[in-house]
Amino acid sequence: MALLKHTPVEIKERKALTINPAKTCQPIGAMYAALGIHGCLPHSHGSQGCCAYHRSALTRHYKEPISAATSSFTEGASVFGGHANLIQAIDNIFTVYDPEVIAVHTTCLSETIGDDLNQIFDKAKKSGKVPEGKTCLGAPTPSYVGSHVTGFSNMVKAMAQQAEPSGKKTHKVNVIPGWVEPSDMGEIKRLCSMVGVDITLFPDTDGVLNAPLTGEYKMFADGGVTIKELKKTGDAIGTLALGEWCSADAARWLDTQCKVPCTVLDMPFGLKATDRFIDALRKVAGVSVPDTVAFERGQLVDLISDMHQYFYGKKVALVGDPDQVIALTEFLASIDMKPVHIVTGTPGNKFEKRIDEITAEAGYKANVKAGGDMFLLHQWIKNEPVDLIIGNTYCKYIARDEDIPFLRFGFPILDRVGHQYFPTVGYKGGLHMLTRILDLILTRTDRDETEEKFELVY
Ligand code: SF4
Repeated sequence: MALLKHTPVEIKERKALTINPAKTCQPIGAMYAALGIHGCLPHSHGSQGCCAYHRSALTRHYKEPISAATSSFTEGASVFGGHANLIQAIDNIFTVYDPEVIAVHTTCLSETIGDDLNQIFDKAKKSGKVPEGKTCLGAPTPSYVGSHVTGFSNMVKAMAQQAEPSGKKTHKVNVIPGWVEPSDMGEIKRLCSMVGVDITLFPDTDGVLNAPLTGEYKMFADGGVTIKELKKTGDAIGTLALGEWCSADAARWLDTQCKVPCTVLDMPFGLKATDRFIDALRKVAGVSVPDTVAFERGQLVDLISDMHQYFYGKKVALVGDPDQVIALTEFLASIDMKPVHIVTGTPGNKFEKRIDEITAEAGYKANVKAGGDMFLLHQWIKNEPVDLIIGNTYCKYIARDEDIPFLRFGFPILDRVGHQYFPTVGYKGGLHMLTRILDLILTRTDRDETEEKFELVY
Protein backbone atom coordinates (compact mmCIF):
# COMPACT_ATOMS: atom_id res chain seq x y z
CA MET A 1 0.00 0.00 0.00
CA ALA A 2 2.72 2.45 1.00
CA LEU A 3 4.58 1.61 -2.20
CA LEU A 4 1.58 2.64 -4.31
CA LYS A 5 1.97 6.17 -2.91
CA HIS A 6 5.19 6.32 -4.92
CA THR A 7 3.66 5.32 -8.28
CA PRO A 8 5.12 7.97 -10.62
CA VAL A 9 2.85 10.09 -12.80
CA GLU A 10 5.34 9.96 -15.66
CA ILE A 11 4.82 6.85 -17.80
CA LYS A 12 7.91 5.13 -19.21
CA GLU A 13 7.88 2.33 -21.79
CA ARG A 14 8.36 -1.03 -20.02
CA LYS A 15 8.77 -4.25 -21.97
CA ALA A 16 10.57 -6.72 -19.70
CA LEU A 17 8.89 -5.92 -16.38
CA THR A 18 5.33 -6.45 -15.15
CA ILE A 19 4.34 -4.71 -11.91
CA ASN A 20 1.14 -5.73 -10.14
CA PRO A 21 -0.03 -8.13 -12.87
CA ALA A 22 -3.65 -8.20 -13.99
CA LYS A 23 -3.68 -11.96 -14.49
CA THR A 24 -2.83 -15.22 -12.79
CA CYS A 25 -1.63 -18.63 -13.93
CA GLN A 26 -3.20 -20.99 -16.48
CA PRO A 27 -4.10 -23.97 -14.23
CA ILE A 28 -6.43 -21.83 -12.10
CA GLY A 29 -8.64 -21.33 -15.15
CA ALA A 30 -8.42 -25.02 -16.06
CA MET A 31 -9.38 -25.99 -12.51
CA TYR A 32 -12.40 -23.65 -12.51
CA ALA A 33 -13.60 -25.01 -15.86
CA ALA A 34 -13.14 -28.62 -14.66
CA LEU A 35 -15.37 -27.93 -11.65
CA GLY A 36 -18.16 -27.35 -14.17
CA ILE A 37 -18.14 -31.07 -15.07
CA HIS A 38 -20.44 -33.28 -13.01
CA GLY A 39 -18.63 -35.52 -10.54
CA CYS A 40 -15.21 -34.23 -11.55
CA LEU A 41 -12.06 -34.11 -9.48
CA PRO A 42 -9.57 -31.65 -11.02
CA HIS A 43 -6.00 -32.89 -10.95
CA SER A 44 -2.84 -30.80 -11.11
CA HIS A 45 0.02 -32.59 -12.86
CA GLY A 46 2.94 -30.94 -11.12
CA SER A 47 4.23 -30.16 -7.67
CA GLN A 48 2.08 -29.82 -4.56
CA GLY A 49 2.79 -26.11 -4.28
CA CYS A 50 1.12 -25.32 -7.60
CA CYS A 51 -2.02 -27.26 -6.66
CA ALA A 52 -2.21 -25.65 -3.21
CA TYR A 53 -2.00 -22.19 -4.78
CA HIS A 54 -4.65 -22.90 -7.42
CA ARG A 55 -7.05 -24.42 -4.92
CA SER A 56 -6.63 -21.57 -2.48
CA ALA A 57 -7.16 -18.92 -5.20
CA LEU A 58 -10.49 -20.52 -6.14
CA THR A 59 -11.50 -21.18 -2.52
CA ARG A 60 -10.86 -17.55 -1.60
CA HIS A 61 -12.98 -16.29 -4.51
CA TYR A 62 -15.90 -18.73 -4.35
CA LYS A 63 -15.85 -19.25 -0.57
CA GLU A 64 -16.28 -22.98 -1.13
CA PRO A 65 -13.76 -25.74 -0.32
CA ILE A 66 -12.19 -26.64 -3.68
CA SER A 67 -11.07 -30.26 -3.90
CA ALA A 68 -8.26 -31.12 -6.31
CA ALA A 69 -5.58 -33.79 -6.50
CA THR A 70 -1.91 -33.46 -7.44
CA SER A 71 0.79 -35.62 -9.00
CA SER A 72 3.06 -34.43 -6.16
CA PHE A 73 6.26 -34.07 -8.16
CA THR A 74 9.46 -34.33 -6.18
CA GLU A 75 13.05 -34.36 -7.47
CA GLY A 76 12.69 -37.68 -9.35
CA ALA A 77 9.57 -36.70 -11.32
CA SER A 78 11.06 -33.28 -12.02
CA VAL A 79 13.99 -34.92 -13.80
CA PHE A 80 12.53 -38.09 -15.31
CA GLY A 81 8.92 -36.99 -15.89
CA GLY A 82 5.70 -37.58 -14.02
CA HIS A 83 4.31 -40.66 -15.86
CA ALA A 84 4.50 -42.95 -12.85
CA ASN A 85 3.12 -40.31 -10.48
CA LEU A 86 0.05 -39.67 -12.64
CA ILE A 87 -0.74 -43.34 -13.19
CA GLN A 88 -0.47 -43.95 -9.45
CA ALA A 89 -2.62 -40.86 -8.81
CA ILE A 90 -5.35 -42.04 -11.22
CA ASP A 91 -5.45 -45.40 -9.46
CA ASN A 92 -5.62 -43.79 -5.98
CA ILE A 93 -8.25 -41.20 -6.96
CA PHE A 94 -10.68 -43.67 -8.51
CA THR A 95 -10.18 -46.08 -5.59
CA VAL A 96 -10.52 -43.55 -2.78
CA TYR A 97 -12.78 -40.74 -4.08
CA ASP A 98 -14.67 -42.47 -6.92
CA PRO A 99 -15.24 -39.43 -9.19
CA GLU A 100 -16.93 -39.78 -12.59
CA VAL A 101 -14.14 -37.80 -14.22
CA ILE A 102 -10.57 -36.80 -13.53
CA ALA A 103 -9.71 -33.58 -15.38
CA VAL A 104 -5.94 -33.22 -15.47
CA HIS A 105 -4.14 -29.98 -16.27
CA THR A 106 -0.42 -29.60 -16.58
CA THR A 107 1.82 -27.01 -14.89
CA CYS A 108 4.98 -25.14 -15.88
CA LEU A 109 7.12 -28.04 -14.64
CA SER A 110 5.36 -30.94 -16.37
CA GLU A 111 5.11 -28.92 -19.60
CA THR A 112 8.82 -28.15 -19.52
CA ILE A 113 9.60 -31.84 -19.02
CA GLY A 114 7.25 -32.61 -21.92
CA ASP A 115 4.85 -35.08 -20.28
CA ASP A 116 2.23 -36.28 -22.76
CA LEU A 117 -1.12 -36.58 -20.96
CA ASN A 118 -2.88 -38.63 -23.64
CA GLN A 119 -0.07 -41.17 -23.70
CA ILE A 120 -0.27 -41.47 -19.90
CA PHE A 121 -4.08 -41.86 -20.00
CA ASP A 122 -3.66 -44.64 -22.61
CA LYS A 123 -1.22 -46.44 -20.38
CA ALA A 124 -3.50 -46.02 -17.34
CA LYS A 125 -6.43 -47.47 -19.29
CA LYS A 126 -4.42 -50.39 -20.65
CA SER A 127 -3.21 -51.23 -17.16
CA GLY A 128 -6.78 -51.22 -15.80
CA LYS A 129 -6.44 -48.12 -13.63
CA VAL A 130 -9.48 -46.40 -15.20
CA PRO A 131 -12.68 -48.22 -14.18
CA GLU A 132 -15.33 -48.93 -16.82
CA GLY A 133 -17.52 -45.90 -17.52
CA LYS A 134 -15.10 -43.43 -15.94
CA THR A 135 -13.25 -40.72 -17.82
CA CYS A 136 -9.84 -39.05 -17.77
CA LEU A 137 -9.44 -35.90 -19.79
CA GLY A 138 -6.58 -33.44 -19.92
CA ALA A 139 -5.52 -29.98 -21.03
CA PRO A 140 -2.09 -28.45 -21.51
CA THR A 141 -1.74 -25.37 -19.29
CA PRO A 142 1.85 -24.09 -19.36
CA SER A 143 1.74 -20.97 -17.25
CA TYR A 144 4.66 -19.21 -18.89
CA VAL A 145 2.33 -18.24 -21.75
CA GLY A 146 -1.15 -16.71 -21.70
CA SER A 147 -3.05 -16.41 -18.43
CA HIS A 148 -5.77 -18.07 -16.33
CA VAL A 149 -8.09 -17.27 -19.26
CA THR A 150 -5.96 -19.39 -21.62
CA GLY A 151 -6.06 -22.27 -19.13
CA PHE A 152 -9.83 -22.01 -18.88
CA SER A 153 -10.13 -22.04 -22.67
CA ASN A 154 -7.82 -25.05 -22.99
CA MET A 155 -9.86 -27.08 -20.49
CA VAL A 156 -13.12 -26.12 -22.22
CA LYS A 157 -11.64 -27.32 -25.50
CA ALA A 158 -10.71 -30.62 -23.83
CA MET A 159 -14.36 -30.91 -22.78
CA ALA A 160 -15.51 -30.32 -26.38
CA GLN A 161 -13.08 -33.02 -27.49
CA GLN A 162 -15.19 -35.58 -25.61
CA ALA A 163 -17.78 -35.24 -28.40
CA GLU A 164 -18.67 -38.46 -30.18
CA PRO A 165 -20.88 -37.47 -33.14
CA SER A 166 -23.35 -40.18 -34.10
CA GLY A 167 -24.31 -38.57 -37.42
CA LYS A 168 -27.86 -38.01 -36.13
CA LYS A 169 -28.56 -34.39 -35.15
CA THR A 170 -30.35 -33.63 -31.88
CA HIS A 171 -32.45 -30.49 -31.39
CA LYS A 172 -30.02 -29.19 -28.78
CA VAL A 173 -27.77 -26.12 -28.91
CA ASN A 174 -24.36 -26.01 -27.24
CA VAL A 175 -23.77 -22.85 -25.22
CA ILE A 176 -20.26 -22.15 -23.94
CA PRO A 177 -20.61 -19.41 -21.32
CA GLY A 178 -16.96 -18.50 -20.76
CA TRP A 179 -15.50 -17.58 -17.39
CA VAL A 180 -18.47 -16.12 -15.56
CA GLU A 181 -19.82 -16.65 -12.05
CA PRO A 182 -21.95 -19.76 -11.27
CA SER A 183 -25.02 -17.50 -11.01
CA ASP A 184 -24.32 -16.24 -14.54
CA MET A 185 -24.34 -19.82 -15.81
CA GLY A 186 -27.67 -20.32 -14.03
CA GLU A 187 -29.01 -17.11 -15.59
CA ILE A 188 -27.96 -18.22 -19.09
CA LYS A 189 -29.82 -21.51 -18.57
CA ARG A 190 -32.90 -19.62 -17.33
CA LEU A 191 -32.89 -17.28 -20.35
CA CYS A 192 -32.51 -20.18 -22.79
CA SER A 193 -35.38 -22.05 -21.19
CA MET A 194 -37.54 -18.87 -21.37
CA VAL A 195 -36.79 -18.70 -25.11
CA GLY A 196 -37.63 -22.39 -25.33
CA VAL A 197 -34.22 -23.63 -26.46
CA ASP A 198 -32.84 -26.88 -25.08
CA ILE A 199 -29.12 -26.36 -24.43
CA THR A 200 -26.03 -28.12 -23.25
CA LEU A 201 -24.07 -25.60 -21.20
CA PHE A 202 -20.40 -26.34 -20.67
CA PRO A 203 -18.75 -25.82 -18.34
CA ASP A 204 -21.54 -25.39 -15.81
CA THR A 205 -20.52 -24.45 -12.27
CA ASP A 206 -24.10 -23.52 -11.30
CA GLY A 207 -25.06 -25.86 -8.49
CA VAL A 208 -21.41 -26.65 -7.83
CA LEU A 209 -19.86 -23.42 -6.52
CA ASN A 210 -23.14 -21.80 -5.42
CA ALA A 211 -24.68 -24.95 -3.97
CA PRO A 212 -26.85 -24.74 -0.83
CA LEU A 213 -25.58 -25.60 2.63
CA THR A 214 -27.68 -28.61 3.63
CA GLY A 215 -25.72 -30.04 6.52
CA GLU A 216 -25.06 -33.17 4.51
CA TYR A 217 -21.53 -33.79 3.15
CA LYS A 218 -21.16 -34.66 -0.50
CA MET A 219 -17.82 -35.19 -2.14
CA PHE A 220 -19.28 -34.02 -5.48
CA ALA A 221 -22.08 -31.49 -5.89
CA ASP A 222 -25.18 -32.23 -7.96
CA GLY A 223 -24.43 -29.64 -10.67
CA GLY A 224 -22.14 -29.72 -13.69
CA VAL A 225 -22.37 -30.96 -17.26
CA THR A 226 -22.17 -34.75 -17.54
CA ILE A 227 -19.79 -36.68 -19.79
CA LYS A 228 -22.86 -38.17 -21.50
CA GLU A 229 -23.99 -34.65 -22.41
CA LEU A 230 -20.51 -33.70 -23.59
CA LYS A 231 -20.41 -36.75 -25.88
CA LYS A 232 -23.62 -35.52 -27.51
CA THR A 233 -22.30 -32.00 -28.19
CA GLY A 234 -21.07 -33.29 -31.57
CA ASP A 235 -24.70 -33.89 -32.60
CA ALA A 236 -25.98 -30.41 -31.65
CA ILE A 237 -27.56 -28.12 -34.25
CA GLY A 238 -25.19 -25.30 -33.36
CA THR A 239 -22.84 -23.82 -30.79
CA LEU A 240 -22.96 -20.33 -29.31
CA ALA A 241 -19.58 -19.37 -27.84
CA LEU A 242 -19.82 -16.42 -25.45
CA GLY A 243 -16.41 -14.75 -25.64
CA GLU A 244 -13.55 -15.03 -28.09
CA TRP A 245 -10.88 -15.73 -25.46
CA CYS A 246 -12.61 -18.29 -23.21
CA SER A 247 -15.01 -20.12 -25.50
CA ALA A 248 -14.20 -19.74 -29.21
CA ASP A 249 -11.49 -22.44 -29.44
CA ALA A 250 -13.83 -25.17 -28.20
CA ALA A 251 -16.67 -23.98 -30.45
CA ARG A 252 -14.40 -23.86 -33.53
CA TRP A 253 -13.12 -27.35 -32.75
CA LEU A 254 -16.72 -28.69 -32.71
CA ASP A 255 -17.35 -26.79 -35.95
CA THR A 256 -14.38 -28.18 -37.85
CA GLN A 257 -14.27 -31.70 -36.36
CA CYS A 258 -17.98 -32.46 -35.84
CA LYS A 259 -19.66 -30.10 -38.33
CA VAL A 260 -21.55 -28.25 -35.59
CA PRO A 261 -21.76 -24.66 -36.88
CA CYS A 262 -20.57 -22.11 -34.35
CA THR A 263 -21.29 -18.46 -33.69
CA VAL A 264 -18.88 -16.49 -31.51
CA LEU A 265 -20.57 -13.71 -29.56
CA ASP A 266 -19.65 -11.32 -26.78
CA MET A 267 -20.56 -12.23 -23.23
CA PRO A 268 -24.17 -11.06 -22.81
CA PHE A 269 -23.51 -8.10 -20.49
CA GLY A 270 -25.91 -5.20 -20.98
CA LEU A 271 -28.71 -4.51 -23.41
CA LYS A 272 -26.96 -4.79 -26.78
CA ALA A 273 -24.94 -7.94 -26.12
CA THR A 274 -27.92 -9.69 -24.49
CA ASP A 275 -30.07 -8.73 -27.49
CA ARG A 276 -27.47 -10.30 -29.79
CA PHE A 277 -27.39 -13.46 -27.66
CA ILE A 278 -31.18 -13.82 -27.67
CA ASP A 279 -31.26 -13.17 -31.41
CA ALA A 280 -28.58 -15.80 -32.06
CA LEU A 281 -30.51 -18.31 -29.92
CA ARG A 282 -33.68 -17.55 -31.84
CA LYS A 283 -31.95 -18.07 -35.17
CA VAL A 284 -30.05 -21.23 -34.35
CA ALA A 285 -33.05 -22.97 -32.78
CA GLY A 286 -35.66 -21.53 -35.16
CA VAL A 287 -37.93 -20.23 -32.38
CA SER A 288 -39.56 -16.90 -31.68
CA VAL A 289 -38.81 -14.80 -28.62
CA PRO A 290 -41.63 -14.87 -26.04
CA ASP A 291 -43.14 -11.80 -24.38
CA THR A 292 -41.61 -12.77 -21.04
CA VAL A 293 -38.14 -12.04 -22.46
CA ALA A 294 -39.35 -8.76 -23.99
CA PHE A 295 -40.76 -7.85 -20.54
CA GLU A 296 -37.36 -8.32 -18.83
CA ARG A 297 -35.67 -6.37 -21.64
CA GLY A 298 -38.15 -3.53 -21.16
CA GLN A 299 -37.35 -3.41 -17.44
CA LEU A 300 -33.67 -2.89 -18.22
CA VAL A 301 -34.49 -0.16 -20.77
CA ASP A 302 -36.65 1.54 -18.12
CA LEU A 303 -33.90 1.40 -15.50
CA ILE A 304 -31.33 2.78 -17.95
CA SER A 305 -33.57 5.73 -18.77
CA ASP A 306 -34.20 6.40 -15.03
CA MET A 307 -30.50 6.27 -14.19
CA HIS A 308 -28.99 7.84 -17.29
CA GLN A 309 -28.74 11.35 -15.82
CA TYR A 310 -26.34 10.06 -13.15
CA PHE A 311 -24.19 8.00 -15.50
CA TYR A 312 -23.70 10.55 -18.28
CA GLY A 313 -20.04 11.41 -18.85
CA LYS A 314 -18.71 9.54 -15.79
CA LYS A 315 -15.19 8.33 -16.42
CA VAL A 316 -14.28 4.72 -15.59
CA ALA A 317 -11.01 2.76 -15.26
CA LEU A 318 -11.57 -0.89 -16.07
CA VAL A 319 -9.36 -3.95 -15.56
CA GLY A 320 -10.14 -7.64 -16.00
CA ASP A 321 -10.33 -10.56 -18.39
CA PRO A 322 -10.71 -9.78 -22.11
CA ASP A 323 -14.17 -11.26 -22.74
CA GLN A 324 -15.62 -9.60 -19.66
CA VAL A 325 -13.94 -6.25 -20.23
CA ILE A 326 -15.01 -6.02 -23.89
CA ALA A 327 -18.64 -6.71 -23.01
CA LEU A 328 -18.56 -4.34 -20.05
CA THR A 329 -16.94 -1.55 -22.08
CA GLU A 330 -19.74 -1.76 -24.61
CA PHE A 331 -22.35 -1.79 -21.82
CA LEU A 332 -20.88 1.26 -20.08
CA ALA A 333 -20.40 3.20 -23.34
CA SER A 334 -24.01 2.43 -24.30
CA ILE A 335 -25.27 4.21 -21.16
CA ASP A 336 -22.96 7.18 -21.85
CA MET A 337 -20.35 6.37 -19.23
CA LYS A 338 -16.79 6.72 -20.47
CA PRO A 339 -14.35 3.87 -19.83
CA VAL A 340 -11.13 5.84 -20.43
CA HIS A 341 -8.45 3.47 -19.07
CA ILE A 342 -8.81 -0.19 -19.97
CA VAL A 343 -6.34 -2.98 -19.13
CA THR A 344 -6.36 -6.74 -19.43
CA GLY A 345 -3.50 -8.92 -18.26
CA THR A 346 -4.09 -11.48 -21.00
CA PRO A 347 -2.02 -10.75 -24.13
CA GLY A 348 -3.56 -10.41 -27.61
CA ASN A 349 -3.77 -7.46 -30.03
CA LYS A 350 -7.35 -8.35 -30.95
CA PHE A 351 -8.40 -6.99 -27.55
CA GLU A 352 -7.04 -3.51 -28.20
CA LYS A 353 -8.57 -3.44 -31.67
CA ARG A 354 -12.00 -4.43 -30.37
CA ILE A 355 -11.94 -1.84 -27.56
CA ASP A 356 -10.86 0.83 -30.08
CA GLU A 357 -13.87 -0.05 -32.24
CA ILE A 358 -16.29 0.21 -29.30
CA THR A 359 -14.93 3.53 -28.03
CA ALA A 360 -14.69 4.97 -31.57
CA GLU A 361 -18.37 4.24 -32.00
CA ALA A 362 -18.98 6.12 -28.75
CA GLY A 363 -16.95 9.04 -30.13
CA TYR A 364 -13.70 8.93 -28.15
CA LYS A 365 -10.39 7.06 -27.79
CA ALA A 366 -9.47 5.24 -24.57
CA ASN A 367 -6.10 4.22 -23.15
CA VAL A 368 -6.08 0.48 -23.74
CA LYS A 369 -3.49 -2.25 -23.14
CA ALA A 370 -3.60 -6.04 -23.55
CA GLY A 371 -0.95 -7.83 -21.50
CA GLY A 372 -0.81 -4.74 -19.31
CA ASP A 373 -0.61 -4.39 -15.53
CA MET A 374 -2.25 -2.43 -12.73
CA PHE A 375 0.81 -0.23 -12.23
CA LEU A 376 0.15 1.24 -15.70
CA LEU A 377 -3.56 1.57 -14.89
CA HIS A 378 -2.64 3.52 -11.75
CA GLN A 379 -0.37 5.82 -13.74
CA TRP A 380 -3.10 6.47 -16.29
CA ILE A 381 -5.50 7.32 -13.44
CA LYS A 382 -2.96 9.77 -12.00
CA ASN A 383 -2.73 11.48 -15.39
CA GLU A 384 -6.49 11.51 -16.02
CA PRO A 385 -8.58 10.86 -12.87
CA VAL A 386 -11.77 8.80 -13.08
CA ASP A 387 -15.09 8.66 -11.21
CA LEU A 388 -15.11 4.88 -10.80
CA ILE A 389 -12.72 1.92 -10.86
CA ILE A 390 -14.06 -1.48 -11.88
CA GLY A 391 -11.88 -4.55 -11.39
CA ASN A 392 -10.80 -7.35 -9.09
CA THR A 393 -9.96 -7.06 -5.40
CA TYR A 394 -6.38 -5.96 -6.05
CA CYS A 395 -7.72 -2.60 -7.35
CA LYS A 396 -8.70 -1.66 -3.81
CA TYR A 397 -5.20 -0.34 -3.17
CA ILE A 398 -5.42 2.07 -6.12
CA ALA A 399 -8.98 3.03 -5.16
CA ARG A 400 -7.88 3.85 -1.62
CA ASP A 401 -4.74 5.64 -2.71
CA GLU A 402 -6.63 7.86 -5.18
CA ASP A 403 -9.89 8.01 -3.15
CA ILE A 404 -12.07 6.73 -6.01
CA PRO A 405 -15.27 4.63 -5.73
CA PHE A 406 -14.53 1.00 -6.55
CA LEU A 407 -16.76 -1.75 -7.94
CA ARG A 408 -15.47 -5.27 -7.40
CA PHE A 409 -15.91 -7.27 -10.59
CA GLY A 410 -14.21 -10.23 -12.29
CA PHE A 411 -11.67 -12.61 -10.78
CA PRO A 412 -10.50 -12.74 -8.06
CA ILE A 413 -12.81 -11.10 -5.53
CA LEU A 414 -11.21 -12.11 -2.26
CA ASP A 415 -12.50 -9.58 0.23
CA ARG A 416 -16.27 -9.75 -0.32
CA VAL A 417 -18.78 -12.59 0.01
CA GLY A 418 -21.83 -13.44 -2.08
CA HIS A 419 -20.85 -12.32 -5.59
CA GLN A 420 -21.28 -15.85 -6.96
CA TYR A 421 -25.03 -15.64 -6.26
CA PHE A 422 -25.81 -12.55 -8.37
CA PRO A 423 -25.59 -12.59 -12.17
CA THR A 424 -24.12 -9.93 -14.43
CA VAL A 425 -25.30 -11.55 -17.68
CA GLY A 426 -28.68 -11.04 -19.32
CA TYR A 427 -31.26 -8.33 -18.68
CA LYS A 428 -31.54 -9.26 -15.00
CA GLY A 429 -27.77 -9.13 -14.64
CA GLY A 430 -27.83 -5.67 -16.23
CA LEU A 431 -30.28 -4.44 -13.59
CA HIS A 432 -28.03 -5.73 -10.86
CA MET A 433 -24.88 -4.20 -12.35
CA LEU A 434 -26.42 -0.75 -12.91
CA THR A 435 -27.88 -0.67 -9.41
CA ARG A 436 -24.46 -1.37 -7.91
CA ILE A 437 -22.78 1.30 -10.05
CA LEU A 438 -25.36 3.97 -9.25
CA ASP A 439 -25.17 3.19 -5.54
CA LEU A 440 -21.43 3.84 -5.59
CA ILE A 441 -21.80 7.09 -7.53
CA LEU A 442 -24.55 8.52 -5.31
CA THR A 443 -22.89 7.35 -2.10
CA ARG A 444 -19.88 9.39 -3.16
CA THR A 445 -22.07 12.41 -3.93
CA ASP A 446 -23.67 12.11 -0.47
CA ARG A 447 -20.23 12.02 1.10
CA ASP A 448 -18.63 14.84 -0.86
CA GLU A 449 -21.40 17.38 -1.44
CA THR A 450 -21.08 20.71 0.40
CA GLU A 451 -23.52 21.54 3.20
CA GLU A 452 -25.38 24.07 1.02
CA LYS A 453 -25.83 21.66 -1.87
CA PHE A 454 -26.55 18.52 0.13
CA GLU A 455 -29.98 17.19 -0.89
CA LEU A 456 -32.32 14.36 0.11
CA VAL A 457 -32.56 13.32 -3.54
CA TYR A 458 -30.20 14.26 -6.39
S1 SF4 B 1 3.05 -20.24 -12.54
FE1 SF4 B 1 3.64 -22.38 -13.03
S2 SF4 B 1 4.91 -22.99 -11.26
FE2 SF4 B 1 3.76 -21.16 -10.63
S3 SF4 B 1 1.90 -21.95 -9.61
FE3 SF4 B 1 1.39 -21.58 -11.78
S4 SF4 B 1 1.74 -23.56 -12.77
FE4 SF4 B 1 2.80 -23.64 -10.80
